[in-house]
Amino acid sequence: MAYTGECFCGGVKYKIEGALHRPRICHCSRCRKAFSAQGNAYAEVDPGDFSWIQGEELLTTFPADGNSGKRFCRVCGSTLCGVVDGRVHGVTLGTLNQDQGITLQAHIFVGSKPAWDTINDDVPQFEEFPPDW
Ligand SMILES: [Zn+2]
Ligand SMILES: [Zn+2]
Repeated sequence: MAYTGECFCGGVKYKIEGALHRPRICHCSRCRKAFSAQGNAYAEVDPGDFSWIQGEELLTTFPADGNSGKRFCRVCGSTLCGVVDGRVHGVTLGTLNQDQGITLQAHIFVGSKPAWDTINDDVPQFEEFPPDW
């Protein structure tokens, strides 16, 4: 599979030449704050499959040490990926330009979701992280 993605302003673009792993939505309180939403839809990628096409110089990482955290466009604020030990670990599904071949596999950390966040699908739900992941 191949995917492309970009931020809200279009300044930052990336591509993935490979599979997206374990698409999930995390409903934890940290993701609510970090993504200013009810949660964070993301999938893991193999770091070697991911590359920036444009605008890497526009990226900022939080926390600011840049080694692990979320990486976002400092012009428009879109978070494009998470990094662990300096390598891209997962991409936000919302910044992808394609949706084919992506099936949500889990709602995670539903144990800490707010009461107003109602989940109305048949995707498996986990109180925290799935034990076999
Ligand atoms: Zn942007
Ligand atoms: Zn989370």
